[in-house]
Amino acid sequence: MNLVLLGPPGTGKGTIAKFIEVRFGCAHVSTGDLLRDEVASRTAVGLEIEPVMNSGALVDDAIVLRVLEKTLAGLKGKSFVLDGFPRTLEQGEILEPLLARLGIALDLVLEIDSPEEIIVKRLSARRQCVSCKRIYGLDVPSKNEGLCDECGSQTVLRKDDEPEVVKERLRLYNDITRPLSDFYSGRGLLRKIDGDRTLQEIFAEVEKLLSP
Ligand code: ADP
Ligand code: ZN
Repeated sequence: MNLVLLGPPGTGKGTIAKFIEVRFGCAHVSTGDLLRDEVASRTAVGLEIEPVMNSGALVDDAIVLRVLEKTLAGLKGKSFVLDGFPRTLEQGEILEPLLARLGIALDLVLEIDSPEEIIVKRLSARRQCVSCKRIYGLDVPSKNEGLCDECGSQTVLRKDDEPEVVKERLRLYNDITRPLSDFYSGRGLLRKIDGDRTLQEIFAEVEKLLSP
């Protein structure tokens, strides 16, 4: 099963994608993580996109596409859950020929949504492990504050989770990503999920939706 996860930042998309990965064996493909890896490895692309990402703006389509296509091609037919792409109608339109080229069909698009004040509260509490990239937050805190349960590295507030940047990301989401909801609804692929619940409740609903 090949999935796209849609939803504003702070709705637990990454955590839900991880759940789907573990429960259904779909590779979690996060364009945000792929791009952050480029930055962390100080590649030429990484140096170019670092200031863009830190400001909360979107990275150039050509760059995201290159990184994404390489990753999807590397899956060699393994199913995936796509998190953070597409983010604009244009990217939704580009994704279709890209998948066709790789002989991949999209099965379902899950859209998770929550009220804005809850999103802001969640993101300011969110921390990410600097090495394994695991996310911690209000629902899933790390056992030792500031340290990753998985690998013991430091967990930090991401630059793009700072309040001013969060506001910009939410504005961007409403303006340019939300229209993808109608785009996929028109293709009969969209399922909406209420994100204003505990992760356990959301997992249960996702499980029901994805079970045959
Ligand atoms: P979130 O979904 O929580 O906003 P992500 O980890 O998905 O955060 O993305 C972080 C940053 O990576 C974005 O703010 C943007 O700069 C860049 N990025 C990720 N995916 C895309 C994309 N599909 N198109 C353009 N930029 C992207
Ligand atoms: Zn870690």
